[in-house]
Amino acid sequence: MEDRGEGMQTKLFINGEFVDAASGKTFETTNPATEDVIANVAEGEAADIDAAVEAANRARTGKWARFDGRKRQDALFRLGQRIQECATELADLEMQDTGKTAFDAGVVEIPLAGEVFKYFAGWATKVHGGTTNDPFALKMTLREPVGVCGLIVPWNFPLLMAAWKVAPALAMGNTVVLKPAEQSPLTALKLAELAIEVGIPPGVLNVVTGYGPTAGARLVEHPDVQKIAFTGSGDVGKEIAAKAAKTLKRVTLELGGKSPNIIFADADVDAAVKGALGGIFYNKGEVCAAGSRLFVERSIYDDVVAKLGAIANKMAIGDPKEKTTRMGPVTSKEQFDKVMHYIEAGKNEGARLVAGGEAADVNGKGYFIRPTVFADVDNGMKIAQEEIFGPVLAVIPFDTEEEAIAAANDTPYGLAAAVWTRDVKRALRVVRGVPAGTVWVNTYNLYDPALPFGGFKESGFGRDLGEAALEQYTETKSVWIDLSP
Ligand code: NAP
Ligand code: MG
Repeated sequence: MEDRGEGMQTKLFINGEFVDAASGKTFETTNPATEDVIANVAEGEAADIDAAVEAANRARTGKWARFDGRKRQDALFRLGQRIQECATELADLEMQDTGKTAFDAGVVEIPLAGEVFKYFAGWATKVHGGTTNDPFALKMTLREPVGVCGLIVPWNFPLLMAAWKVAPALAMGNTVVLKPAEQSPLTALKLAELAIEVGIPPGVLNVVTGYGPTAGARLVEHPDVQKIAFTGSGDVGKEIAAKAAKTLKRVTLELGGKSPNIIFADADVDAAVKGALGGIFYNKGEVCAAGSRLFVERSIYDDVVAKLGAIANKMAIGDPKEKTTRMGPVTSKEQFDKVMHYIEAGKNEGARLVAGGEAADVNGKGYFIRPTVFADVDNGMKIAQEEIFGPVLAVIPFDTEEEAIAAANDTPYGLAAAVWTRDVKRALRVVRGVPAGTVWVNTYNLYDPALPFGGFKESGFGRDLGEAALEQYTETKSVWIDLSP
């Protein structure tokens, strides 16, 4: 008898209780390193979303609404602490669900998710409106919660992406229904368990696991949901924006990218190479801001390509639980097939393979792909234009700064970018010249809860993190009180 999912939460979390789906259905979540089933998880559908929204709607005017900022601050700060105290358990769930390494899950993702709750906890006591100074009227603004927020998140950073949305939403006094990705439902359910522990009242945070086209779609349609915050693919993002228009929900979308990383000849080349490799291979390239297009100034191009190839070819790929492993499997069979398809496209379009380009055999199981570097890529090629969302780097030479900026901007995306140079004026010209939500200078893939994150162009709109996120989860109400004599 198998003991699938023992010790894990696998049921929906609605109105403060773990419950089966109304239909009784479950779906399997699997470990991409072993292809084993980890657990059978409740498959929420429209009826379960309706129950969760009803609970969230009730909680909106209940105890949570009567919590003052200090109480919300304390609860959210404790939630951040509990996440960090449970880092080992949460990282283990994340590793099993997504194949990310012990380092990526336990040192980066989970502690950062805790930090996000602590950061937004502080804002719960600091958001307020303003007043004017007129003698015969008191005119003021109130910042009020938006209402019930539907939060739909992807599988690449399951708990962190949930934290980016749950933390500011709750800090501002909203109630939420969170729909994690089907590939990675486990940490969202553990978050629910921790939310009970820290005293977040029933109905304030609800988690409905299930599929996008059923559970996710109902959340987008539901008339009592006031806002949808989504991170995921561009196609689904566009569908959500169109559907949400029917009830004029507030929508924020954090979509994909094809982020350019530009290395000039005057840069610290070894640091740039290391940054470029981290920029694409961190979390197997399953990062919306992955630096998937690397532009290298021609005078250092051969040297950089040689270094990239040498290091990529030596990267330890294997069991994500092993401390020495640098890269685990991609998250699912679908991702494996998609990434392999792009690798074939790169070969067919004539790019020069300098590392990887094939699946890796790790005990004959799992969805492992070797870190792949293509050189001599043309920015018009499929591997330079479409989001691969996997461990595939496209390296492109350039001669002038103008040419590099023009090529960097020649995609529909604008999520992130980076520039490596010792010339501060040049760095700032690139920062200003590239329409992207985040631009790193002489580094890559760094995040801070205080720094807003989001896209320009088809990478979406709205900002997660920082003070900017508070605007996404509040409405401004103007009040005019007549004081005329
Ligand atoms: P996705 O389909 O966009 O999934 C993101 C979230 O949206 C998941 O929770 C998903 O549920 C849900 N969803 C799917 N269809 C929906 C619908 N019609 N209405 C409401 N919600 C819906 O992304 P994916 O299929 O997991 O990955 C596909 C590609 O998206 C990747 O290859 C990558 O290019 C991109 N991606 C981008 C990011 C990012 O951070 N920007 C993250 C992940 C993936 P299900 O889990 O049931 O699908
Ligand atoms: Mg999906």
